[in-house]
Formats: sequence, structure tokens, C-alpha cells
Amino acid sequence: MDLKKLVNKGVDSLSPYEPGKPIEDLEREIGIKNAIKLASNENPIGPSPKVLQSIDAILKETHRYPDGNATRLKDSIAKKFNTSPNQVTIGNGSNDIIEFIARSFLGPDDSAIYSEHAFAVYPLVVKAVGAKGIEVPAKDFSHDLEAMLRAIEKNTKLIFIANPNNPTGSFVEFDELLDFLEKVPEDIIVLLDQAYFDYSSFETRDANFDILKKFPNLVMSRSFSKAYGLAGFRVGFSVSSEDIANYLNRVRQPFNANSLALYAAEKALEDDEYMNECLQLNSEQKRVLYEGLNSQGYEYLPSRANFISFDCKKDSNDAFNKLLHEGVIVRSLGVYKMPNFLRVSIGLPEENLLFLEKLKLT
Ligand SMILES: *Cc1c(COP(=O)(O)O)cnc(C)c1O
Repeated sequence: MDLKKLVNKGVDSLSPYEPGKPIEDLEREIGIKNAIKLASNENPIGPSPKVLQSIDAILKETHRYPDGNATRLKDSIAKKFNTSPNQVTIGNGSNDIIEFIARSFLGPDDSAIYSEHAFAVYPLVVKAVGAKGIEVPAKDFSHDLEAMLRAIEKNTKLIFIANPNNPTGSFVEFDELLDFLEKVPEDIIVLLDQAYFDYSSFETRDANFDILKKFPNLVMSRSFSKAYGLAGFRVGFSVSSEDIANYLNRVRQPFNANSLALYAAEKALEDDEYMNECLQLNSEQKRVLYEGLNSQGYEYLPSRANFISFDCKKDSNDAFNKLLHEGVIVRSLGVYKMPNFLRVSIGLPEENLLFLEKLKLT
């Protein structure tokens, strides 16, 4: 059997997404304990105590299917962010949403635009549906919105913007974004991926989804995996026009988000105090890492999120492997075409200090 002939052409062109190395794997491989992971931009503090205290109640109900419409979570999101539940779509992580959008709007005759050094999942979902991915060179490691507009082709149906972007930490300011959205033809969907929104907009983080009224072609996605500390539960959501939400809902698998995840997300939304503590710690520790990197002579990309990418000035694999052997897992950015860079997630104070100490050995 010639599997290569059989498989979807788009799928054949893919490489699997490479996640950060799990802690247990590393500990087993090098025979150490107490390895630390600063590789996947998780919240280092853990889930809100409100989530942990109440999750038992739901465990007893897990012989039942989850609420397939996620009614309660959608209501909570709508209330908190001042939108309508009919505009909300729930995903098994916001990656699920990214895939719904590709599957709803792209076919083999279409193209989608994303930036160089942008989130690795975009080319993955685009190619999986057989569409053409157009990668636009970045400007100073940030989205070049003008160039992205110029890259639009006749068959372009979708544009991805990660704001803040992973792995560069860059951020497009609101005015600049509005200007861009005004110039995008209205028959092209724009996905504004706001997985790190909470970190980027400390003061206005409850900003509502008002701009959707002006831009019916816009979809805004957010995640519970980063600032909300629920990466293992897998839950995220998007807010869009009701019409777009209706389409996303058609390709969504029934029960895509599980009962525990729906419940945890609902509880996490209630805990503003915890969120503020997490954001506070993140901004304090970002400064510690900036200073530490500076004093070791590393240049870094200023970040609006909970990670920092820094330049090793030579292939970073060596430093990556040395850190691994010292029990510190970070991320090498070869797959993002930044082979000299490493990305470190902002961890707990002791984790960041350990990282800086071990970095000196590389
Ligand atoms: C982490 C991340 C996501 C998605 O995370 P989920 O866990 O699937 O919600 C989406 N976009 C970017 C840019 C990310 O870094």
C-alpha cells in the first residue's frame, strides 16, 4: 500500500506540533528529580483555589455526558465580558477554535495569511484542510500588518493575528489593529488570537468585545490555558458574530469540552483576586528575568506575555541541551525559524532564579 499516495496532500506536508518536554520524561531520561519546566507558558502558580475546592462535586457526575451546549459557561463568559452567549463558541482549548475556523472557512482552493514567527498551529490547520498558507515576513519580530494586507490574494479567506504573539511576545496596539481591520476586505475572516490577552492588557483586561459590532468578519479567541491556569483541562473560547458562531458550531464535535473543563473555567472566571495575583507575579518576575538576561549579556525581545525569547547569538540547541541536563526545560525556537533563540516561560521566583543560574553554565 502506498500510504503517501493515499494521504491528504496537505497532511503529508505537515510535521507534528512539538510540545514542550514533559517534566517526568526529562527526569526519567537523565535520572534527576526536581526538574523544572519553563517551556509551555503555563501559569506557574496553578489553578485558582476556587477551582480546586469545588471540582469534586463534578467528579461524581462524570458518568454523564457534558453539557453539549456549554450553556452555563457561555452565560458566564457573556456576563463577564459583556457580550451575548450566542456569540460565544467553546473549544477544547482555543486550538480547537483555530481548527473550527480553518475547517469552516477554508478549502483546497483557498489561502490563509499568517506572519513569520507566529504561532505554529496556524500553518498546521491551514495545510490540514488542503489550503495554501501564505507566510508574511515579520518586521522586527512583530506582525507587519501592511505587508500582510499586501499579501492578500484573490482566494484569501482568512488572516491570523496573534496578539500578543507567541513566541516573540510582540504586541499590536489597539489603534494600529483598528486601522488594519478597516483595510481588510470584509469577505476575509480575521482571527485575532488573544491567548495571552490577560497579560497584555493589565488595566483593561475586562475590555468588552465591542469592536465586533464594527467588524462582522472578526473572530476573537481566548484561552483558559495561560493566565487562568487551566492548561491541563483544555478549554478556550471565541467571541464573534452570531452568524460566524453558528458555523463554528456546525464543525464542532458534540461534547468537545469535558464536564470538568467547563466547570473549572466557570469557577476560574469568578476569581479576579487570584488572576490579579498571577498577573502581578508575572510582571514582577518578568523584570527579574529581564535584568538577569541583561547582566549575562543576552538580548531579549520585550514581551507583553508570560514568556521571554532571547538571543543566544549562535545556534541555541547547545544551550537548550545543557539546560536540559541541568534539569531546566525551556523551548528552542528552530521550528519558528529563530534557531538562535530560546524561549523561557516566566515561572515562580525560585524557578526563574534557578534558570538564570543554570543559564550561566551554558
Ligand atoms: C497557547 C496558545 C494558544 C492555545 O492554547 P490552548 O491551550 O489550546 O487554549 C493559542 N494561541 C497561542 C498564540 C498560544 O500561544
